[in-house]
Amino acid sequence: MERKVAWTTYSDKDLKKLETISKNYIKFLDSGKTERECVTEAVKLAEKHGYRDFAQVIAKGEKLSAGDCVYSNCMGKAIMFFKVGRQPLDKGMNIVGAHIDSPRIDLKQNPMYEDSGLAYLDTHYYGGIKKYQWVTLPLAMHGVVAKKDGTVVNIVIGEDPKDPVVGISDLLPHLAADQMGKKGSAVIEGEALDVIIGSKPLKDEEKEPVKAAILALLKEKYDIEEEDFLSAEIEIVPAGPAREFGLDRSMILGYGHDDRVCAYAQLEAIFDISDVPEYTICCILADKEEIGSVGATGMSAKYFENAVAELINCTGDYCDLKLRRTLAASRMLSCDVSAGYDPLFAGAFERKNSAFLGRGVCFNKYTGSRGKGGSNDANAEYMGCLRKLMDDAGVNFQTAELGKVDQGGGGTIAYICAAYGMNVIDSGVAVLSMHAPYEIISKADLFEAVKAYRAFLINA
Ligand code: MN
Ligand code: MN
Repeated sequence: MERKVAWTTYSDKDLKKLETISKNYIKFLDSGKTERECVTEAVKLAEKHGYRDFAQVIAKGEKLSAGDCVYSNCMGKAIMFFKVGRQPLDKGMNIVGAHIDSPRIDLKQNPMYEDSGLAYLDTHYYGGIKKYQWVTLPLAMHGVVAKKDGTVVNIVIGEDPKDPVVGISDLLPHLAADQMGKKGSAVIEGEALDVIIGSKPLKDEEKEPVKAAILALLKEKYDIEEEDFLSAEIEIVPAGPAREFGLDRSMILGYGHDDRVCAYAQLEAIFDISDVPEYTICCILADKEEIGSVGATGMSAKYFENAVAELINCTGDYCDLKLRRTLAASRMLSCDVSAGYDPLFAGAFERKNSAFLGRGVCFNKYTGSRGKGGSNDANAEYMGCLRKLMDDAGVNFQTAELGKVDQGGGGTIAYICAAYGMNVIDSGVAVLSMHAPYEIISKADLFEAVKAYRAFLINA
């Protein structure tokens, strides 16, 4: 039952394609370190492939027919792509969905303070992180500041090699007797994840002169004031580019593989389909998965359902029953990363049901934790169809669950879409050091994910 190592199956032509996709993925990772930046990049790619803004199509009252391509942008933080198929929508769509938010450190609304000659930004971390991993690293600031006059200032500091970086300090080992005796979750406390941003005082300023100097700098460079942080979304993320990893360059080390690797594989797959598909194909990039798929841009919101309703309206006559039929008849891959088996932490895994780096795209019938709690648990019949579909398309795949029973667990967006009555299964790329500032994937698994998602969109 052990699955093949995908690398052993490749021709020279395959390897060339694999390297091209990997190179483009690294570019995507570097320019998309936040959900907003990922949407911007995805729109660029979509427009290059003939996708039009759905909002404009709707505003003009245009009709859509087989072969037409549109994207639906949700607040610049989530996005959907549709290519209309030959079959009527109520025969169901072939859907791939991933998330583009990643664990990180967000600024608080009132973040700035000065202490002992250092200026800081106070933060609240986002998603499940091991807090001790985020100290003593070069960090960058990405995000937006929305001013009262309605203008939105884009901020990216720490990515250009000429930029400064920011970061979080840790205690020296010489004085860490108390700290080293603490539980891992308390080694660095949430309130100790404050980012150092300056140390040079403003001349002749008596009260908080370092903070005053930073504020003067922000005013000059971005025309923003301290109060503007009240309406800002600034994310603190690892600074610098993703890199090829391993002496053999077989892997990629980067920030945010979870879940941008699946997001990118989906984009590669859908934009590579030039023929008119049999069934309408759809790609969803959702926000807020790491904090429970909540909020207006999380998968639990109605934007997907609303977009499908608009699509029904644009391709014929809308009725509620048609919408329900379309959703219930659809097939979906919920594309999210899986835990890669790590021999250094073998005790957390059950080997037979683990995902290994390099053995291809991974299917997780269920995720969840403790007795499959909160999991989607896909139907056996559906997995049966997918096995055939993957084998016919020559896709290397493996199956896994997230670690040993009762060791922990996790969730995805699968159960949310399954609520419409459609068949959904989790499928993604195995990751080492998931949710760490730098995660590791295998280029082969990325390549197999692209093949799998393409085959699914065309043939499911
Ligand atoms: Mn994920
Ligand atoms: Mn995650």
